[in-house]
This record gives sequence, structure tokens and C-alpha cells, in this order.
Amino acid sequence: MSTFTASTNIAELKESPTIAVSSRAKAMRASGLAVIDLGAGEPDHATPAYVMDGAHHALTAGATRYTAVEGIAPLRARVAARASVLHGKPVDPSQVVVSGGTKQALFNACFCIFGHGDEVLVPTPAWPSYYEILSLARANAMIVPGSADMSFRVTVDDLDRAATPRTRGVMINSPCNPTGAVYSRAELEAIMRLAEDRGWWLISDEIYRRISYDRPATSMLEVSSGFDRLIVVDGVAKAFAMPGWRIGWSISSIAAAKAMAALQSHVTSNAATISQHAALAALSDDDAEQVACDTMVAAFRRRRDAAAAILRGAGVHFIEPAGAFYLFIQVGNPTPGDPEPGSRFARELLESKLVAVVPGAAFHAPEWIRVSYAAPDAEVLEGVRRITALLGK
Ligand code: PLP
Repeated sequence: MSTFTASTNIAELKESPTIAVSSRAKAMRASGLAVIDLGAGEPDHATPAYVMDGAHHALTAGATRYTAVEGIAPLRARVAARASVLHGKPVDPSQVVVSGGTKQALFNACFCIFGHGDEVLVPTPAWPSYYEILSLARANAMIVPGSADMSFRVTVDDLDRAATPRTRGVMINSPCNPTGAVYSRAELEAIMRLAEDRGWWLISDEIYRRISYDRPATSMLEVSSGFDRLIVVDGVAKAFAMPGWRIGWSISSIAAAKAMAALQSHVTSNAATISQHAALAALSDDDAEQVACDTMVAAFRRRRDAAAAILRGAGVHFIEPAGAFYLFIQVGNPTPGDPEPGSRFARELLESKLVAVVPGAAFHAPEWIRVSYAAPDAEVLEGVRRITALLGK
């Protein structure tokens, strides 16, 4: 019998529901079942060859030692140079901290700027780790529900209504996981102005920014005047098909960057050295990068269009995704006897139709499911057909 008792630090912590679905689908596949996994939040593409070449080269050159906690100088310089272009003003490399994935950059940011009892507005549905990371920082994630008519994008009025004297910040994720919504430049400007007026921190998670179909997704770097209370996080996992390399970064004021580096120095130290060199390679060949990124986005667009056509034809209610690689589909209405129709549907779908998706409850949207189309075309289409079949459409 286990004698393990969790500390109060993690008493409230929930397992990542998106990773849980993926693990279950992998286990079913390992047992010989032909599961279609539309749960995973990672590109099905291989890391581009030019990045692999850069990584091999760095390894041969002996890139195996510790680096500075905040990352190797050329990678920070490269990230800063790109941020400067978007920002229209110089961003200094000392404003950049490289971390073990965007997830760690988000954790560093939340842990360093929020604390006990602080309220942070989270436009919802949102990526589950926001709520858990805020809880680890002892802050309170305040759910701000968007409306399905607006693809769940929140307005400044929604944010203002949810604010209290304890509000300290707001999390923005555009393009959004799980809805695929992309905020317009005007919407981001309005949110930025509200945050500035109220003295709130703004954390902008831009990991899907390069995966946008109708128009380029705006970065907060483009609309902000400075970094007094802004932290932008980004990484190579999605746009460069490098999820396993675990490289992300934050761009902030120098003071916030120092605080985050100090925190990281006691938790993980530098992000893996070879992975930093791979990320540097990814960002150092503009032409190869454009080709790799365009190829991937074209594949996502093709799958999105084909899958959306099936759903539309069947009369299924879903959010038209403008970015990222997820379809957010409504599968029921909660009732007292069935408070989480999305969870019930996802279970039935996996057991009876062998398709893995993430229940919307993971994103505080219990009547929805999230379907990733970062999977081979045939699997996406077959999976979506099975979803419409289970919906009786
Ligand atoms: N932010 C969002 C919205 C995500 O969906 C993810 C990954 O799924 C991350 C951050 C984490 O990215 P990384 O793999 O770089 O830690």
C-alpha cells in the first residue's frame, strides 16, 4: 500500500488531460488496436532536415556542456532580432530567456509575477496548463467565458466585467488552443490598452502564431509600446515541428527576464544545450524556414478545409478555425444527468469507433470536444467521418 501523501503545493493539481488522452491512445495502439489519434497537440511532420543538420553539426562540434541559464547568446540574439522587427523598436537579447519549452517559459512568467490571491483573467476555453500553472503560483485563474458566436474570443467588456480589485493580469493565446480562433489586430490593441489602463500584466502565448490561414496572426509585440507589463512567450514546438526538442522562450523587460532566469537557475538551469543549437539552426536560415513552415501550414489548411466541409455538410456545430490545428466541435448540451456530454462522447468515440479526441471539459467547455488535425490526411478525414456518424448525422 502506498504511503504517499501529496504536499499542499500540489493538492489541487490535475493531470494534463490532453497528455492523458494521448497516453491512452498510445496504450491502445500498443495493444494492437488501430486507434486514430486526433488527441495529440503536436505536428505529425518530422523536424525539417536543415534543423537536423544544424543539430548534428553542433553535436559534432561538442555542444554538450552547460550553457548560461538564460540560453546561448546567438539564440537569444536571433529571437531578439526577430522580435525587434515585429515590435518596430529594438528588443535587447537580455530581454530573452530560453527555457525547456514554452510551457516552462509560461511557468517562469506566472511564478515570477503572480502570487497568493492574485486574480488572473483566463479567456476560456483555454489550454489546461494555464489554470494549473496559475494554481501552482497560488494565483486564482478567473475564467472569462467567450461566446461561441465570436469563436470564443473575449472582448474588453468581457474582461472588464470579470475584473476585481485583485485582478493582476490576463492570459491571451492567439491563435488559440483549443478553438483555433485568431484575434484581430484591433482586438489585441484594445486588450493591450485595457491592460495598460488597469496596470495588469499581459501574458501573450504566441506558440501558434505562424499557423494562421486567413491572414497573418498579429503578435502583441506589434501592438505594444514596451515591456513594462508584457511577457510574450513562443517556441519551436509547433511551427518548426520540434515538440520533443523542448525549446521555448520569453520576451519581457530586463528586470522580469532576470527574475525568470533566477527562478530557472534553481529548477532546471539551461534548456538542453543541443536543443538550443537546433532551435538556433531553425531560426538561422530564412529560406529553408519559409519552405518548411509553408509546407506544414499548407498540409494543415488542406486537412482543415476537408474536415470542415464534412462537418458543415453534416450540419455539425463547430468553430471555424482560423489558426492552430484544432477543430472545436459541439457534441451536446449539458443536463443535470449528463453534465459533461463532451467527456461521455469522447469515451464512446474511443471505445466504439477507435478515435481519440480531447473532451472539452479539459478546457472548461464540457459540451465540446477538441479534434487535432495534425495527423495524416486520411486519418483526419476518417476520424471526422466517425465523429459525425456517432453524432447520428
Ligand atoms: N501553449 C499552448 C497554447 C500550447 O498548446 C502548448 C502545447 O500544446 C504550449 C504552450 C506548450 O508548448 P511547448 O511544447 O513549447 O512547451
